[in-house]
Amino acid sequence: MILPMSALGQTVPLPRERPPSLSTETGQDNSPEVPEPSEAAPLLPATVDEPDDTDAPDKTPRIYQTQCPAVIAGLVEAQLLPSIEEEECAERTPWSVTGVRVGGRIVPLSAPATLSCEMATNLPSWAEMVDRYLQAQRNTGLAELSVGTSFSCRETVGGDAERVSEHGFANALDVVGFKLNDGGDIVVQSDWPKNEAPEGRLLRFAHDAACSLFATTLGPEANEEHSDHFHLDMGCHGGSCLARLCE
Ligand SMILES: [Zn+2]
Repeated sequence: MILPMSALGQTVPLPRERPPSLSTETGQDNSPEVPEPSEAAPLLPATVDEPDDTDAPDKTPRIYQTQCPAVIAGLVEAQLLPSIEEEECAERTPWSVTGVRVGGRIVPLSAPATLSCEMATNLPSWAEMVDRYLQAQRNTGLAELSVGTSFSCRETVGGDAERVSEHGFANALDVVGFKLNDGGDIVVQSDWPKNEAPEGRLLRFAHDAACSLFATTLGPEANEEHSDHFHLDMGCHGGSCLARLCE
């Protein structure tokens, strides 16, 4: 009977003795009321806050998308977009591409293009080839890629087969021309026919350079639907996916 009484007596009174000692240092009038809530406060919130902290990480959604090496390397200026699922069209990891690195600088696109990683990866290499041609032939450089359609959920145009265009998989880009550092503006529609002029020669070089990089390159000579732009895509041709289409 004596032992339990003494044991309880030692633990309980100790915290109650501290408030009066603190109260004498600060003030005598309010001393008895202030220390009591300060003792109870640290115990209650600690147990209430813990469940909130453990719930927070579970609310972060898992992102089922993949990284793009060209973006990580800084070769492409792009932002991740949500996955596309639209009728027959889809792309798990589309990127909004706004620029490509050429000779250490960023060459902007005239408008953000929604592209797959495969397309985004090839663009800076192509732009670099065009830029080097301009440096050598005209002592200028590439200032901007003038782009048209990128993602568009539709069927192919200019072909006989009815199938979803690579544009429907964010795997294609239409390029309508190039803006140059010297103020020049090369336009496929008006400059392609000038096959002997510097503008026409540049466009033919750009077309052939694209053929060495992209799976598909269609220009004004492919069909009438492509008279005003280059269509570039990374679609699969042939059973091995190694064939290329250059027209
Ligand atoms: Zn196209």
